[in-house]
Amino acid sequence: MKKIGIIVPCHNEEESLKYFYPAICDVMDKMDNEFELMFINDGSTDHTLDVIKEYARKDKRVRYISFSRNFGKEAAILAGLQHVNGDYVTMMDADLQDPPEKLIEMYDVLIKENLDIVGLKTNDHKNYGIFRKFFTACYYKILGSFTTVPMAPNERDYRLMTRQVVDAVLSLTEYNRYSKGLFNFVGFDTKWITYDAPDRVAGKTKWSFWKLFAYGIDGIVGFSTRPLVLSAIIGVLFCFIAFIMILVIVIKTLVWGDPVGGWPSLACIIIFVSGVQLFFLGIIGEYLAKTYLETKKRPVYIIKETEEDLEK
Ligand code: UDP
Ligand code: MG
Repeated sequence: MKKIGIIVPCHNEEESLKYFYPAICDVMDKMDNEFELMFINDGSTDHTLDVIKEYARKDKRVRYISFSRNFGKEAAILAGLQHVNGDYVTMMDADLQDPPEKLIEMYDVLIKENLDIVGLKTNDHKNYGIFRKFFTACYYKILGSFTTVPMAPNERDYRLMTRQVVDAVLSLTEYNRYSKGLFNFVGFDTKWITYDAPDRVAGKTKWSFWKLFAYGIDGIVGFSTRPLVLSAIIGVLFCFIAFIMILVIVIKTLVWGDPVGGWPSLACIIIFVSGVQLFFLGIIGEYLAKTYLETKKRPVYIIKETEEDLEK
């Protein structure tokens, strides 16, 4: 019998878990597979860990890893992938926005069509505000033109994959993990199933605008070096403009003499060009910072306890 490992990152999901656990149990009962349900407690400050421990005590399929603090969803996914057992592995959010019952369909498609990855795509982010929708659309346009790894706005992290894919993802050992990109980077035969994403069942989203913004920058910096090329291109363009302006000024001076003037426009140009320089210095700094973090080789997460520490 094939085993499916399910990774569930949880950060303050005490409320959601009460709905999630029965829902996933229902799915596991309906399928003829063995299961391992791996909860990752990502530094929750509520009673998430106690709830998970309670499940682990009474249900042998449940395992858990609890971090020493909040390391972020990317770290939780990595820990899950590194520790979960199973011929197939999937990961889903604890808030039921990744409907557990979809796993049945995903598994069927994966087996029948002999695929490596089956993922879920939302039809529409109807539960996002206009502001977030707009920024998401713009962001993926920019990301798409910068990178060669295909990434779409509505792809969820909810995917079912073979052990081979998991191993491929784990072979990417980078510290800055933008898993949306990592999963697409490895390739393999993938199929996307579309569905309407429901609202989260309880609790609050952990993503503020600035968190999303920083995550977005991680995506671009992690999967493209084109912003650096862009700085070079704009540098050349500015040199060219400066050259034309010099020519114009020399000719003007020779033909009409040189009445001193135009300092306000000069000040504007200096401020503008300094701004552009600082902007690109910032971009270079961003790459330097990522390289700096990579070279430190700090662990992506630190485990405080697992189900093995549970008193039976
Ligand atoms: N999550 C996590 N660590 C974090 C933030 C989120 O493990 O630092 C988990 C969270 O518990 C949930 C999933 O990641 O299971 C998705 O988070 P959320 O629902 O807040 O994101 P959204 O669905 O709004 O994109
Ligand atoms: Mg959610």
